[in-house]
Amino acid sequence: MSELTWVEISRTALSSNIARLRSLLEPSTLLCACVKANAYGHGLCETGRIFCDAGADWLSVHSLHEARRLRSSGLDCPLYILGPVAPDDYPDALQLDCRLVVYNPEDLPALAAAARACGRTARLHVKVETGTNRQGVGAGLLEQLCTAITGSADLMLEGLATHFANIEDTTDHGFAQAQLRRFNEAISLLAGRGIAAPIVHCANSAATILMPATHFNLVRTGIAAYGMWPSNETYVSFVRERTNGFALTPALTWKARIAQVKEVASGEYIGYGCTFKTGHPTRLAVIPVGYYDGYDRGIAGGHVLIRGQRAPIRGRICMNLLMAEVTDIGDARAGDEAVLLGRDGDECITAEQLARWASTINYEVTTRINERIPRIMTC
Ligand SMILES: *Cc1c(COP(=O)(O)O)cnc(C)c1O
Repeated sequence: MSELTWVEISRTALSSNIARLRSLLEPSTLLCACVKANAYGHGLCETGRIFCDAGADWLSVHSLHEARRLRSSGLDCPLYILGPVAPDDYPDALQLDCRLVVYNPEDLPALAAAARACGRTARLHVKVETGTNRQGVGAGLLEQLCTAITGSADLMLEGLATHFANIEDTTDHGFAQAQLRRFNEAISLLAGRGIAAPIVHCANSAATILMPATHFNLVRTGIAAYGMWPSNETYVSFVRERTNGFALTPALTWKARIAQVKEVASGEYIGYGCTFKTGHPTRLAVIPVGYYDGYDRGIAGGHVLIRGQRAPIRGRICMNLLMAEVTDIGDARAGDEAVLLGRDGDECITAEQLARWASTINYEVTTRINERIPRIMTC
């Protein structure tokens, strides 16, 4: 293999996560796996295919661009676009049989015209504002928006949706409960006016795992499908309340091949800014991964794994390279594999560990891995 850095994705892990999430749901509840952001860094089309084969009913993406790629790769499952689509792209989105989210009444005429022009019905999901204050339509406009859809022959109100603000940020789910209450009130209010949608949905991974009352007809699971917990708080909430064997398996391993191993005398500096000075004769491995690849420059005090041992990073992360100390890994050689994220023997670097080093969250760690780096599907 000629690659100097690559990402390995375990099909078994992805498939088993889908099966485990499915086991939390009523049989009639649809499982929509989120594959936005290059499938959270795992590779959009390959991962989308694995999720569908493993039993995901729908896929969701952020943009039409991602939907186009999935359709070109031959996936014909229901596709839901979570983000905005430009009016000029409505015909394309409808031709590709995508479900769209709506929250602006003024978008409906162009949607209806595009649907009429391509001889299709636009399947729309109204995003209800319940307190996240991202996409969403407040109580004042909600009924008007829904009536405009149900009153049009070209539009179909397929879904009613909302999104939680902080369910993964805390072990206190009071705010999520309040959002769920508001969502239920909005649904009842619409039902009172004779407006209903066949697919009601609001659950992200944390809600899917922690709050069965959020499942309704479909759950939108992202992070958990990749085998990562949404947060420590979600994990703590889960183990506090449950004792069954639900578990998740991370699917992603990020590797690189050591470019050079060399001896550096005591008292030498390493890398840009001369931030690190050796205190003893040091063996150093140069690894062809840097912040351009998505390895955060903020990582300080971190390590990579070489021959199953921890090799501490020395000096700053460069654009395309980093240096790690292998003084105590005597047999490390140029050409050896280094593991940046994932397991190597008894040692493991999790996305959560990298996130702590970089002061961010696991979501950002894997989604930031440069798309240019090959994703290799393994069993
Ligand atoms: C990304 C996203 C999700 C998935 O969230 P996870 O926490 O990764 O499960 C669900 N719903 C919407 C609207 C999203 O944008």
